[in-house]
Amino acid sequence: MEKITSFTIDHTRLVPGVYVSRKDSPGGQTITTFDLRMTRPNYEPVMNTAEMHTIEHLAATFLRNHPEYGNRTLYFGPMGCRTGFYLLLSGDYESRDIVPLMKELFSFIAGFENTVPGASAKDCGNYLDMNLPMAKHLAARYVEEVLADITDRQLIYPE
Ligand SMILES: [Zn+2]
Repeated sequence: MEKITSFTIDHTRLVPGVYVSRKDSPGGQTITTFDLRMTRPNYEPVMNTAEMHTIEHLAATFLRNHPEYGNRTLYFGPMGCRTGFYLLLSGDYESRDIVPLMKELFSFIAGFENTVPGASAKDCGNYLDMNLPMAKHLAARYVEEVLADITDRQLIYPE
């Protein structure tokens, strides 16, 4: 089988950032897949599943309720390597286009003070596996170290 596109990125040169992973056009409508990379691959500890799970619940809820992006949000979910998330939006975007939305999203998570939405046995398959304090810490770090003053190196995959 051929190597798929996301395995051709040089992960040893990838830094935390916001990247366009791919664009697909099933039925003529463009869908942009974003790589929201939160830790530096193969360099620092990855995120634990509990905090990723919490970020997933909060982000999916925030994005699907967003006045502008709610009906364009197709998917938000974790990478298996636990270094980041994928976001799929309906539409043709560049990475810089969603930086304001990501600032809104991760600031919302960083300041979240309530019960995590969907964290109940009825709504989720593993609802006890949550870590809100760590999710907030990681979200705040992503805002401060990546989103606040983002550079091309954090927006475009290494050659
Ligand atoms: Zn869940």
